[in-house]
Amino acid sequence: MANKEIYLGSHVSLSAPDFYLGSVKEALSYGANTFMFYTGAPQNTYRLPLERLKIEEGRKLLKEAGIDETKLVVHAPYIINAANYTKPDLWELSINTIVSELRRSAAFGATMMVLHPGSHVGMGAENGILALAKALDVVLATDGTNVRIALETMAGKGHEIGITFEQIKMIIDKCQHKDRLGVCLDTCHINDAGYDVSDFDHILDEFDRIIGLDRLLCVHVNDTKNPIGAHKDRHENIGYGYLGFDTLYKVCHHPKLDNIPKILETPYINEKAPYKQEIEMLRSGEYKSNWRGDEPILQTEAKLKA
Ligand code: ZN
Ligand code: FE
Ligand code: FE
Repeated sequence: MANKEIYLGSHVSLSAPDFYLGSVKEALSYGANTFMFYTGAPQNTYRLPLERLKIEEGRKLLKEAGIDETKLVVHAPYIINAANYTKPDLWELSINTIVSELRRSAAFGATMMVLHPGSHVGMGAENGILALAKALDVVLATDGTNVRIALETMAGKGHEIGITFEQIKMIIDKCQHKDRLGVCLDTCHINDAGYDVSDFDHILDEFDRIIGLDRLLCVHVNDTKNPIGAHKDRHENIGYGYLGFDTLYKVCHHPKLDNIPKILETPYINEKAPYKQEIEMLRSGEYKSNWRGDEPILQTEAKLKA
């Protein structure tokens, strides 16, 4: 059976000397037709000016390769925490960072940016949700772009918010400007949060009932090192974790998600990106046992438990 084209790629780097041109080249080297990038370092908000990032060169190459720019994903730096209102200056800094990242995303021609909902730092989920919604309202009223924000579903470690569809829905509902709000579904995170990814149809039904499938903007396709409900957030290579290849293949090829980019954020193996192999297998459906070079101990464990 011939596979229809799905939008599948991975996280890629953006670094000297080629910056965005290098990001595009990296994605193409994996056989990807979409990708996700940070407009600087993931863990801080230090950012080089856009003029230095070879954006035009990158966009030109994208065009030549026939890649649809509307499927590209930017990820906001993950130190942002707009759900913590206890330190107003940091909360405001988070707002400013989100605004500036949305503007940077727009300069790349990107149409969506993934944002971690953040942590309520002990104040309770309800307060975290209110703080974030308030922050998002300021952001969406001031940034002046059309870039959509994809709130990522989180694993539930520490005091994270956004760990259930209900919480995500509450964030959206509390916002005045909700048109540009959407969701990024991460398979590792939802497993760790307690959702059974092997019953993906059911998950999408739940998502549709609670949030609405039209808000689903992108999927992070990751296996997980931990069993369901572990609240850990440790990504694993495809087929090596508790989810396994068949489940993740189904996610990638689900007919309700045809137009949605799927992005791998699986770990490097001996400092080498696994994405070319993982993309190939997830596209074709042909899984190569022990492709990583070792036994899939966690997946075997998961199968024994099931
Ligand atoms: Zn993320
Ligand atoms: Fe993710
Ligand atoms: Fe994660």
